[in-house]
Amino acid sequence: MRPIIPFLLLASPALAEVPSVVTDIPPVHALAAQVMGDLGTPELLLARGADEHDFQLRPSQAGAVADAGLVVWVGPELTPWLEGALEARPEGAPALALLDAEGTKARDYGVGNVEEGHDHGPEDPHAWLDPGNAQVWLGLIAAELSRLDPEHAATYRANAAKAADQIGGLDAELGALLSPVRGKPIVTFHDAFGYFGDHYGLDFVGSIAVGDASSPGAARLAGLRDEIAAGGVVCLFPEVQHDPALIEQLAEGTGARIGGALDPVGSSLEPGPGAYVALMSGLAQAIVECAGG
Ligand SMILES: [Zn+2]
Repeated sequence: MRPIIPFLLLASPALAEVPSVVTDIPPVHALAAQVMGDLGTPELLLARGADEHDFQLRPSQAGAVADAGLVVWVGPELTPWLEGALEARPEGAPALALLDAEGTKARDYGVGNVEEGHDHGPEDPHAWLDPGNAQVWLGLIAAELSRLDPEHAATYRANAAKAADQIGGLDAELGALLSPVRGKPIVTFHDAFGYFGDHYGLDFVGSIAVGDASSPGAARLAGLRDEIAAGGVVCLFPEVQHDPALIEQLAEGTGARIGGALDPVGSSLEPGPGAYVALMSGLAQAIVECAGG
């Protein structure tokens, strides 16, 4: 016969389960994985090699969003494809939108992008590329998990503090690594690097596609070509999910170099707690390799 006391213990709220956590993109997944540590593994929605702005959830993923104890995402400015599944969740189901959360340093796109009519508003959603935001987000994720699972609050907070320290160290390293390329004009495939450039003093003079990685207009390409032809642009960078042909055409005959393919959302990386550091280091190394020469 089974003893009765363990049954009663299992029913006690003090043994509440660790919430199931669903995240949108690899860097957010990495931060949540660091906060959860050994307590659990968050789910990542964005598939390997997929575009963060243009993705479609599989039915099983929509089910995971519906059932999640907590959804952590940047916000509708980045992943409008996640809005429908979130709206299907019960009223008050926990969701943490990081871009508009308290403490996040948000930046706007220049007016030019808005005039060209891209579809996700004037706020630049690529906010994880500022390591200060990643540190703030660790704290926010820990606070939300602690609210939902108070029994493990101390662990969430300790994990977040350790991860924030690690990112602080990374930030100092990247600052030193990037110092020789500060102010050197660079062109990228899509307009994702505003936070990275602001933080490290890099000069991203333009991009082929606007913030949501949509196709460029002829006027935009002509403007960029003039800028590159006028001299000064040191490097053009293709992006992992996109055909480099346009970048190669733009660079042709200008003397500007073509750098390694950048991966601002980490979609080519192995997902996990180390992916944030890998993403930021990968960007910095690719930029220094091309623009530092
Ligand atoms: Zn983007």
